[in-house]
Amino acid sequence: MNQTQQCYQMLDAKWRLLRLKYPELPEQHGIRIEYFANSRKGGYVKQGNFETIWLNSDFLNHHGQDFIDRTVPHELAHIVDQIVNGMAYTRTMRRVLHGPSWRAIMRDMGCDPKRCHSYDQSASGRIKQLFVWENEGGELMPLTPIRHKRMLKCKPGRGYYRREHQHGTVYHFTGRVQTVGGA
Ligand SMILES: [Zn+2]
Repeated sequence: MNQTQQCYQMLDAKWRLLRLKYPELPEQHGIRIEYFANSRKGGYVKQGNFETIWLNSDFLNHHGQDFIDRTVPHELAHIVDQIVNGMAYTRTMRRVLHGPSWRAIMRDMGCDPKRCHSYDQSASGRIKQLFVWENEGGELMPLTPIRHKRMLKCKPGRGYYRREHQHGTVYHFTGRVQTVGGA
């Protein structure tokens, strides 16, 4: 079985589980896997699009089944959350992406909502330090020293860091520092 087939097998299995809990879901999920590259994001779905999950093909190639186990259920939960619960917003009209309803769906699939789906992208030979921030969905975001300092200057609770497809998620510093790169 190739990696794309493994992704679909994961989707089918999780969809069957979710239909037991949410009978309003159609029998067939109809979701397609698409790929992107050259990004630190593991995967994403688009708001209002229930037909496509985009996956980072670099991470898939490097991490295989482990990446599929983490990322496919995570993104599927975003789609099902939108179908079942609609959009949720904070008081300041930011999308709630990894809130209680998303976490409940992750648990319904037997997945730990705290598990991250971030991977290092350390192609360059230079050694550098990355400061690991985490959002309420348990996704890790390693930041360069410059961005880390910028985040620290934000008021507590206002540490927003805007990222494509992760609009205004609240992050906190985990206290962990990664060293990446080198020979
Ligand atoms: Zn997410």
